[in-house]
Amino acid sequence: MKKMPRIRFAHLPTPLESLPRLSAKLGGPRLYIKRDDQTGLAFGGNKTRKLEFLISEAQAHGAKTLITTGAVQSNHCRQTAAAAARFGFECILVLAGERPSKEEGNYLIDTLLGADVVWTDFQNRDSKLKDTFDQLWKVGKRPYLIPYGGSNPTGVTAFTVAINELLEQLKSYSEIPVPDWIVFASSSGGTQAGMVLGRQIFGFQGKILGISVDEPEERLQNKIFRLAEETANLLNEPIQFEQKDILVNADYLGGGYGVMGDREIEAIHLFAKYEGILLDPVYTGRAAAGLLDLIRQKYFNSSESVLFWHTGGTPVLFVDSYNDVINFDR
Ligand SMILES: *Cc1c(COP(=O)(O)O)cnc(C)c1O
Repeated sequence: MKKMPRIRFAHLPTPLESLPRLSAKLGGPRLYIKRDDQTGLAFGGNKTRKLEFLISEAQAHGAKTLITTGAVQSNHCRQTAAAAARFGFECILVLAGERPSKEEGNYLIDTLLGADVVWTDFQNRDSKLKDTFDQLWKVGKRPYLIPYGGSNPTGVTAFTVAINELLEQLKSYSEIPVPDWIVFASSSGGTQAGMVLGRQIFGFQGKILGISVDEPEERLQNKIFRLAEETANLLNEPIQFEQKDILVNADYLGGGYGVMGDREIEAIHLFAKYEGILLDPVYTGRAAAGLLDLIRQKYFNSSESVLFWHTGGTPVLFVDSYNDVINFDR
């Protein structure tokens, strides 16, 4: 595998833990968790891994400004703003959605980290991103564009090597088996594309199942397929993927992106009350809700082990529109 330039600032390896009380409560497969909510950069999350490679590339290009895009409560934008602060870049965030009346959650942190926000709507997001990039370039700010979710082959590389991190870590944990399944929240597809490629390169035998947060199954599968192939090319790994390598479940889209329903609320409560682990309303809450439902449907064999890869997002728990409804009695 081609070695990619990387700046090591994430707290790695992230902790690998077992979830004995939740496993017993559900009476299903043995559950484990990989704590990428603990990657260390301003509340952590999966984007910090990608940024180790992206920031390195930005420096190599002589960039002075990082520009990226996401939703108002984007975890990716918050982690990018933190990396910019840490490595001395200016940061421009093109946020899609209505400008909130209150600074809270990730948006509060973005402002604390010194990012400048450009507002747009979802329809015009990509053109606004491009226009803002061009303007920055013209005035000599030397922008480096990080795509939505940090999901280009450079960023995806981080999750390819994350599979190696997991396999190495498992060698020193005699009480934790090599998982039969890895389950997590999938959206821009970068996390899953990296894992799928890492699975082939490092010979991981388990299955990798992304729970879609906002995309229909086939669309997300196609995105992952393309990203995995592009990243394989970048890393000089001539790997052919098959449709069956890219497992996506889009049964839990509920009311759409960012709409927290009863399933997400239940998952957040169970992980908190049985394991002391905080999930978020948008991504990990939805993925865990899918995991709970699949366990109840006996999708997994009870002798199997399932690793839930926590991808972060916890600042969104502190957004009023969510925490106003999260705490009703259960
Ligand atoms: C971005 C994000 C994801 C999805 O990762 P992708 O690589 O975009 O598929 C999952 N969980 C959280 C908390 C995220 O911020």
